[in-house]
Amino acid sequence: MIIKPRGTTDILPKDTPVWQKTEQTAREVAALYGYGEIRFPTFEQTELFARGVGDTTDVVQKEMYTFLDKDGRSMTLRPEGTACVVRSVIENGLAGEAMPLKLYYFTSCFRYEKPAAGRYREFYQFGTELFGAETPASDAQVISLADTLLKRLGIRAELKINSIGCKNCRPKYREALISYFRQYEDRLCDTCRGRLNSNPMRILDCKSPICQDIAKNAPKVTEYLCEECASHMDKLKALLDNTGISYETDPGIVRGLDYYTKTVFEFIAPIDRDAKTNELKTLTICAGGRYDGLVEEIGGPRLPGIGFAAGLDRLVAAQRIAGNNTEKTNAVRVYIAPLGEVASFFAQKAVYQLREKGIYAECDIVGRSLKSQMKYADKTGAEYTVILGDNEIETGKAVLRNMKTSEQTEIKLDEIDTIISKEGQ
Ligand code: ATP
Ligand code: MG
Repeated sequence: MIIKPRGTTDILPKDTPVWQKTEQTAREVAALYGYGEIRFPTFEQTELFARGVGDTTDVVQKEMYTFLDKDGRSMTLRPEGTACVVRSVIENGLAGEAMPLKLYYFTSCFRYEKPAAGRYREFYQFGTELFGAETPASDAQVISLADTLLKRLGIRAELKINSIGCKNCRPKYREALISYFRQYEDRLCDTCRGRLNSNPMRILDCKSPICQDIAKNAPKVTEYLCEECASHMDKLKALLDNTGISYETDPGIVRGLDYYTKTVFEFIAPIDRDAKTNELKTLTICAGGRYDGLVEEIGGPRLPGIGFAAGLDRLVAAQRIAGNNTEKTNAVRVYIAPLGEVASFFAQKAVYQLREKGIYAECDIVGRSLKSQMKYADKTGAEYTVILGDNEIETGKAVLRNMKTSEQTEIKLDEIDTIISKEGQ
């Protein structure tokens, strides 16, 4: 048997309604906030992510699906969306349009991770990016978009915010981190030892328990912020307070991608329950931040930006845990049960006409007996059934049966589409 690759998922028809609802809600909220949809390729030149995401990050160092194409060029399946959006904004000259520029996307992402609950090798994201504004007000609006979405989905999430400074305050913090971690150099994991001098902030984000333990007492970025970054953070907090969005400041949030500056944030919510202890497991369902240097880094003009990505897999899981994913599936309006070939011919045409009118109709295409056709009609939740035998075809009349009330009405076959549409009103 051929099975799916580790860390990938099949999303089956019984599960897709909650995905569709989630996507639909995200589209509606994005539109409310004035965002337009952008779509981009599944693979890009590897250099985009090495430069954009950062070549000392876990994503680039350990998790990318990179391959050489037939011409020997290095390509990578996108591990995230922001670098792709930025590349597209620059390439298509959107940086010259009216600002702020607001874009949203749905995308699958590929990361070679250790699969677990809510952690896959191919996963889905809903992301938003806002370009051309560097005010705390733009941060607050982006955070409020995520907040509105989560509320509409009925997910109770905790918001954590932090500032990781800018290129003015980062060097001093970097020095402090290097001298702190140097004391524990021998105990750090191999990757972190390699990053100690090049990008010590990444150690704060390492998933290894030993590194995490060491990182607990590391100097806090908030103590090193320059005046501008500190005041940016204070204003953002005041704006969130003013809007009534509750949050917690958490200096431990540094985010796993290199492009972030100043504001970073995460929404955390339960996504699973431990089978043994019944305890809720929480994960980050939506995360983002400001990236004022990214557009320039990728070869574009100076253009500040801020955005977030919400993991759709985790949004779906969070709704499930909250017990609010009872989405009804589409029920058949009318099931036509033909007996014999002539009736079957008629039935095929009738369902075609009904569907043309936007009525969900079904008829037998398997060649089943009347009894099993009726069983099938029941299973699909058909509201009405029509049985077509030789007699019905000859007289041009049939009996329309309301499955709920058992009420029977004689109808003319050539008026079936108008009758069905009236019945529903
Ligand atoms: P984590 O700390 O959980 O690894 P991350 O910092 O790598 O997350 P981002 O790159 O910021 O995450 O991605 C944004 C969101 O995408 C995450 O908050 C999460 O909801 C989702 N996500 C990230 N990686 C995965 C994955 N492997 N499987 C499912 N969802 C994921
Ligand atoms: Mg990760």
